Formats: sequence, C-alpha cells, structure tokens
Amino acid sequence: MMSFPQILPNYIGGAWHNAGSDASLEIHDPATAEALAEVPLSTAQDVDEACRAAAAALPAWRRVPPIERVQFLFKLKAQLEEHFEDLSRIVTRECGKTLNEARGEMRRAIDNVECACGIPRMMQGDILEDIAQGIDELTIRQPVGVCGIISPFNFPGMIPFWFLPYAIACGNTVVVKPSERVPLTMYRVMQLIDELDLPAGVMNLVNGGRESVEAMLDHPTIKAISFVGSTEVARIVYSRGAASGKRVQAQGGAKNPVIVLPDADLDKAVAITAESAFGCAGQRCLAASLAVTVGEAREPFVAAMSEAARQRVVGYGLEDDVQMGPVITPQSRQRIEGLIDTATREGARLAVDGRGAVISGYEKGNFIKPTVLNDVAPGSTAARTEIFGPVLSVMHVQSVGDAIALVNSGSYGNMACLFTRDGAAARRFRYEAEVGNIGINIGVAAPTAPFPFSGWKDSFFGVLHGQGQHAVDFFTQTKVVVERWVGSTLSVFKAS
Ligand code: NAD
Repeated sequence: MMSFPQILPNYIGGAWHNAGSDASLEIHDPATAEALAEVPLSTAQDVDEACRAAAAALPAWRRVPPIERVQFLFKLKAQLEEHFEDLSRIVTRECGKTLNEARGEMRRAIDNVECACGIPRMMQGDILEDIAQGIDELTIRQPVGVCGIISPFNFPGMIPFWFLPYAIACGNTVVVKPSERVPLTMYRVMQLIDELDLPAGVMNLVNGGRESVEAMLDHPTIKAISFVGSTEVARIVYSRGAASGKRVQAQGGAKNPVIVLPDADLDKAVAITAESAFGCAGQRCLAASLAVTVGEAREPFVAAMSEAARQRVVGYGLEDDVQMGPVITPQSRQRIEGLIDTATREGARLAVDGRGAVISGYEKGNFIKPTVLNDVAPGSTAARTEIFGPVLSVMHVQSVGDAIALVNSGSYGNMACLFTRDGAAARRFRYEAEVGNIGINIGVAAPTAPFPFSGWKDSFFGVLHGQGQHAVDFFTQTKVVVERWVGSTLSVFKAS
C-alpha cells in the first residue's frame, strides 16, 4: 500500500502545487478510523490557476489529431492495468467498499478509457451534398473548451472516468475536483498521468469542497460542467452553472425500487436484490432501496431477504470473504441509524435490525449491518428518502399496475428493476416506468461504457449523460458549414 503526502497537493499545468489555503480535512479509513492524509480546501484562486493552465493548453491540444490524442488513452489504460490492484486497494481504504467491489469499480473506469479510444469515429460529423444545387452542408464537431468535472464520494475511481477520457479525447482540457472525502484515488491516478507524455495543462486536479465547486461554476473559462452527487447539490450546480453560460450535466440522488412478481425465480430475485441493496454498503446511486412485492411474492420474499441480510458478512473490505464494508463517515452512520428510527416510529416493522454493529478488531469503524424494514407505508420517510446505507425497505401491492404506479410516484428516476418470467409484464414495465435505467431480472442496471448513464426526474438535470456517445456529444459543439464553390479560375478546372 502506498503512502501519501500529509497534505495532498493539487496538479496544475503539469506540476504539483500546494493549495493556497490552510484549511484542510483529515481523510480517515472508514473501517479502521486511521488517518490517511489531509485534503486541502482549495480556494477560488487555486481554481483560477487550474483554469488558466487548462486554457493555455487548449489551442495546441485541440490541434493534436484525434488519432494521436487517443494514443494517450491507450497509454493511460496500460498504466491503469499495471496499477490495478494498487488503485483498487486505495479505493477500499478511503471509501470502505470491499476489494472486489473496488476492482469492479476500477474495471468500469478502464472500460470508459477503452470506449473513448473510439473518438476518431465517434467524433465524426455529417455531410449532405446538394442541399440545393451545387451547395453542400456539413456538421463538424469541435471541442467545447475547458471542462470541469466534480465527483461524489461513493465511486472515487470510476465516476471521473464517465467524463474525463471523452473530454480530453475530444480535444478539450480538464479541471477535475474529486470528493473531498475520497481524494486519494484521483491523486494516484494523476500521478500515473504525470508519468505519461500528456502536454502540461490538459489534465488538472484541484482538491477541495464547496468553495472550489462554486469557483468552478462561476469561472468564465470553464465552458462545461459534469457533476455527480446528491440531488440537492446537483440542482445548485445545474442552475448556477447555467447562469454563467455553461453547458451542465448534473446527476443526482436516487431511491431505486425493485418489483418482485409472484412468478419470479425467488432465490435469484432475493440474491440479486440483496447484492444490490447491501453491496457497497448501500452507497450506490443504483442501490435497490425499495423492494415492492406483488401478490403472493410477499411472504416468501420477506423471509428469504431477511435471511440473506443476516447472512451477509460485514467487515474490513481488504479482508478475504468480507461481503460488505462500513459506510463513509460516523456522521453518515448516525444519519442512517436515525432514519431507521424514524421508519419504525412511522410504522415500519424491523425484520432485520443492523444498528449498533460492532466488528471485532474494527470497533472504531462506521459499520451498520444489513437492515430490512417491512411494511413500509407509501409516502413515509423511508419510502421517499435516499437513505444511502444498507437498508432495504419492503412494500406490498396487489397488481403490476399498482407496482408501476408506486415506482412512478417517486420523485427520483434513476433506476427501477423487475423480477419476472413474464415477457408481457416486463415489456409493460419497461414501457411505463418513469426512470432512466431499467433492469429486468437485474439488480444494479448500471449502463456499461458505450451507453449513457441515464437518470430522469430528480436524479438528473440536463440533456446529455455521462459515458459513450452522450459524452462525446456533451464534450463537442457542432459547427454547421454551408458551402458553395462555383466559378473556378484554374485553367486546369473544367466543369462538365
Ligand atoms: P454531495 O452532493 O455531497 O457531493 C458531491 C460533490 O459536490 C462533491 O465533490 C462535493 O465537494 C460537492 N459539494 C457538496 N456540497 C456542495 C455545495 N453545497 N455546493 C457545491 N458543491 C458541493 O454527494 P456525495 O455525498 O459525495 O455523494 C452521494 C450522492 O451522490 C448520493 O445522493 C448518490 O445517489 C449520488 N450519486 C449519484 C450518481 C448518479 O449517477 N446519479 C452516482 C453516484 C452518486
């Protein structure tokens, strides 16, 4: 395991710089409470320096042919592969998830690097000859300029990669601000990038929190903002970024329902839903947090899910056989336990209570064990709130129509899943559910790199999502050219 400087530096214009602020936060391993490093809370001045470096690098970088720009991505992929285990361990240490979950996360980051290697094709424009006689019209895609990327705590290695490889492959330059709660993975990634021959200023990293984000949103040099985090902040980012003339894609929070029909393969539905609800300690924006049983699925589902929750092995993510790690901070643990209290006060029945968990050897860790709340009432706090912990709320309805209505009554629209063997029910669900990511017999319907990471309603503000062609569309602006070429004066030119 590598060690880190006591105070993490920023990476600006191809060099490491200390932030111009004395304010910092300590980063703790959520399982052991060990202090890992300090993250500076960079100021608007630090952000300005990063923006200047990115702007200075832009004219030359956009002139590098796309086929040469992606050579850098091939090298980055090789670096990420070579340091895959190291990076995965850093993710586990700063974020708490199990090593296998961290490996899965880093694999998805690499998938996006690979996908963005297709830029020489994905970035192509269109042409139509003879839109009028002798006149041609074409669309070309050009980079938008300096792009800002702001990420949340729960996927420190993956989420910046929903944007970063596409942004630079399209000829933009970038300022990344990781979550101040998990800055170590991107620090290490930037060290690896520093070893490559990327021109200085193409990739910049600023550590910090709210002040840094606000400086990015207001900075006139930044033309595009990619944000992932809570709905509350996504809304602020979307409106403040737009107010200063930027294009913004802002992914927000979620409350993801999973519907279980009576004909579903129950064992599979339970195993897959448990993995979705409790994997990454429920701190996934695609975590199942509401199970809706239909008809007679009710009793067997609750019994089997309670058993699955009790069986899950909770502990330190770097240890073999551990299936679930801690939540990110003591405050987060307190908040989640408080929401479980509220749910019981509002009438839910605690089928499995994971509060007050103590893991031997890791007594200072932020552990909560898997929790199942049964008979959660529609409209109650547990039914509406993104708990973002290992808590599954269970509700019961009598028909497919009622289940879909329940899905659509929520304010979020990130993901909904259905377990069934019935094609017509599946098609109806896919057609009617008002969410951006659908799973059929899947518990975490996470779009792979070539597909947009969709999200509707309060889970997304904007038009174009991260990953794949959406990212290319977001990181390029179209220019339309209408051309007429007549009357050559060349003696060798002969129109026939
Ligand atoms: P968060 O909103 O607290 O923080 C996200 C980023 O915003 C961080 O970089 C943080 O520094 C910055 N920030 C925080 N408060 C701010 C403020 N007031 N003004 C400006 N910037 C601010 O989110 P989090 O707790 O780190 O992450 C968890 C949330 O992210 C959950 O709601 C989860 O559902 C969501 N999430 C969504 C997706 C998705 O694809 N929709 C993916 C992952 C996580």
